[in-house]
Amino acid sequence: MTLARMRIAALLLLALLALPAFARAGDAGREAPNLVLQGDLDGKDNQTFRMLPFDVPAGTARITVQFDYSGHDSDHTTIDLGMLGPDGFHGQDGFRGWSGGARKLFTIATTDASPGYLPGTIRPGRWQLMLGIPNIRAGSHSHYVAKIWFSGADAPAWEPAVLNPPLRSVAGWYRGDLHMHTAHSDASCPSQSGKRVPCPLFLTVEAAVRRGLDFIAITDHNTVSHAEAMRELQPYFDRLLLIPGREVTTFSGHANLWGSTAPVDFRIDGTQVKDWNALLDAVAPLHALISINHPRLPDGEICMGCGWIAKPPVDMARVQAVEVVNGEDTGTPVTGLPFWTAALAEGFRPTAVGGSDNHDATLTASKFGASMVGRPTTVVHADALSMPAILDGIRAGHVFVDVAGSGDRLLECNAQSGGRHAAMGDTLQASAGQRVDIHVHAAHVAGMHLLALLDEKPLPQGADRVLAGDDAREDYTWTGDGQRHWLRFEVRDAQGGLLLIGNPIYINPRR
Ligand SMILES: [Zn+2]
Ligand SMILES: [Zn+2]
Repeated sequence: MTLARMRIAALLLLALLALPAFARAGDAGREAPNLVLQGDLDGKDNQTFRMLPFDVPAGTARITVQFDYSGHDSDHTTIDLGMLGPDGFHGQDGFRGWSGGARKLFTIATTDASPGYLPGTIRPGRWQLMLGIPNIRAGSHSHYVAKIWFSGADAPAWEPAVLNPPLRSVAGWYRGDLHMHTAHSDASCPSQSGKRVPCPLFLTVEAAVRRGLDFIAITDHNTVSHAEAMRELQPYFDRLLLIPGREVTTFSGHANLWGSTAPVDFRIDGTQVKDWNALLDAVAPLHALISINHPRLPDGEICMGCGWIAKPPVDMARVQAVEVVNGEDTGTPVTGLPFWTAALAEGFRPTAVGGSDNHDATLTASKFGASMVGRPTTVVHADALSMPAILDGIRAGHVFVDVAGSGDRLLECNAQSGGRHAAMGDTLQASAGQRVDIHVHAAHVAGMHLLALLDEKPLPQGADRVLAGDDAREDYTWTGDGQRHWLRFEVRDAQGGLLLIGNPIYINPRR
């Protein structure tokens, strides 16, 4: 054994002894790898392979590797990468892919893998990172470092962070579609020759780009097989955040789950999964968001399980959002608004969101039951364009729904009382007799009607105001009574059609 190889072995042993099996979400050292393998190469290693063994702990669902080495730019040193599972190259659970010198960061998971690698079960045991060295000059030396992260099945879809950097790091309003189907469930569109075929994911992504969206969630029915295609597309679409989701589809209602690729048992039949509350228990540790879809669609043979008929009723405190607009359902009896406002009246605070429920990415117009991508659009105020930031923005209720998916309409609301401020989704304390000042900013809705609603009833003072200009600002004052209220704003057209739906500011909430 050479000195260099002894050093590698010692470092490997130290790394294995020192590191915990998993980095937990929220840990200060969340970015830190679970394992670091490093070593040295010189001219004698030219055109050889070196295997770097490492132990994968039980419960691992994703392995992520970031690799770097010296001498590439100065000496044309080149190191290729590949991965072997626990059965070696030729075994049943052996070859897991090869990326040559093409990339320094890759991931292999049960659901998805970087191009060049094979997704599938991650069996615990001794894996090997393969280094191929097509070129290192006789007198050259190269130091390499491989950082390795292990993620469990319950890890959120945005971990490890090294794999999912923010697309933009500025706070602002970001526009997206949270409900769409692809070939991975029941979406279809015309093929090259005009046959209806399962509609590939890239068409949905391209449609979202054409619609000017910042993020989309792919929510195929009960599956996350789309995560593999998303893994390939995300680096190319570096201005459109792709969020893996699924539409949990049961006999007693549908709900979107965003930000997790963990398996979720949807078989609510009283036996496999007892009821919706048991399902909510199962998803609670996933750090994902769950949103009840189209709650007032009728249930029956036309759309089986589509209506929300969960029995017993679900604990709404564990539901983070409600789809108040599904495609073109505003103005129809099946709009989700009454379901949402009933939850508000009970003191719950689910965020109102919208989703196109698109099933054909090539649609360029919408009608009831067949909506184009981005209609409606959910607009989220987030700290960054990243999965955790967008989902945190939705969780916080910093959201309005742009019913037509206009691309530029804006609805902002701020209230202040006693020196404290609250935006949509926030809470504000206002005791009896305390003055509350409210400021609304509505853009690109000139001539439309701004409605102020307190507990869904018109705020007495100027409940319906016509907005002057494309950058309208309206002020209201209201006097607190120490009671619980919710205050929200809508923008409607002259015929009463909904254009923008704001989430509430919660005054003196109890929960
Ligand atoms: Zn549905
Ligand atoms: Zn759907």
